Amino acid sequence: MFDELLKFLGKLDGQQVSVNLECQADADGYLDKECPNDPCRFGFKVHEQDWSDIVRDEEVFCPSCGHAAPAQDWLTTEQVEWAKQAAFNQLTDGFDQAMRQDANDWNRRQRPNQLVSITMQVAGTPEPVQLPLTATEPMRLKISCEKCNCRYSVIGSAYFCPSCGHNAADHMFSQSLDKIRASLDVVPTLKVAIPDRDAAEHAARSLIEGGLQSAVTAFQRFAEALFTANPAAPKARRNAFQNLEEGSRLWHQAYGTTYEQHLGADDLTELGRYFQQRHLLAHKDGLVDADYVVKSGDASYREGQRLVIQAAAVRCCVDLVEKLGNMLRADAQTAAAQAKTAPEGGPGVSGG
Ligand SMILES: [Zn+2]
Ligand SMILES: [Zn+2]
Repeated sequence: MFDELLKFLGKLDGQQVSVNLECQADADGYLDKECPNDPCRFGFKVHEQDWSDIVRDEEVFCPSCGHAAPAQDWLTTEQVEWAKQAAFNQLTDGFDQAMRQDANDWNRRQRPNQLVSITMQVAGTPEPVQLPLTATEPMRLKISCEKCNCRYSVIGSAYFCPSCGHNAADHMFSQSLDKIRASLDVVPTLKVAIPDRDAAEHAARSLIEGGLQSAVTAFQRFAEALFTANPAAPKARRNAFQNLEEGSRLWHQAYGTTYEQHLGADDLTELGRYFQQRHLLAHKDGLVDADYVVKSGDASYREGQRLVIQAAAVRCCVDLVEKLGNMLRADAQTAAAQAKTAPEGGPGVSGG
């Protein structure tokens, strides 16, 4: 009675249902991707052409967390859901057809003049037509990797190129400083938007103090990346670039210039004070100790007081960090250009 259905089920046994998942690019030509690393699941896009021409099948990197996995693993949640639905539709379609065929065969075998005749009907609505999978809206921030030229786009921050994993230190640096400035811009509206005055004050303070800490961290990462990019650079301890004096000394060894030459004594002293304040915020809950007064030369505080950080001061810190960072970048670019034109086998020239 159920010959066709049994045949259909028999065909399914041990078989895989294959679905043709054709992902469309968005209006700007980018394909949707998602990090397969569970706590991350960062959504980003890669230019369709670069996905096929530049990105390797063996390894793709998450722009946010740096997780590496083969190219086939980067389907988005929507794409997987779409494929599941398509597979399900394909199955129910086959199931439905087999049942209808069985019913027809059965009904045909019933003789009309029989005393009792049983006919079979297969109820059910036809399968809904599955719409093709459309791409999500284009993302505004588009990045082109300085190393492999792969084009990708993200919302928020990106740290790694999906194709080569290159750590985009330069891009990260300017991005972090932009973010700090943008969050300082929000402070006045925050005080109006949060009705609870205590909560508003806390939120504003943590944005401002967080901004100062982020500015120092952004500089530290950038200086570190430029420093280690120089094959002639000596070994540096972890967090060496959190300390301006130590960082300047190391920089001089690698590139022949000091921070003071770049910023001048006054700006460097001011920046040094912000670095010391970051240290207090990070390790002493902002409480001033004797060490701070000596090292920063800041006579406006006594030991035991708490730092009062104004948004304007954080902006100054961001400006100084940017100014010094730009000069360090120029140093590194000059050195890289010289290494390229230096005679074969010269110091600091590496093969490959
Ligand atoms: Zn990730
Ligand atoms: Zn790249």
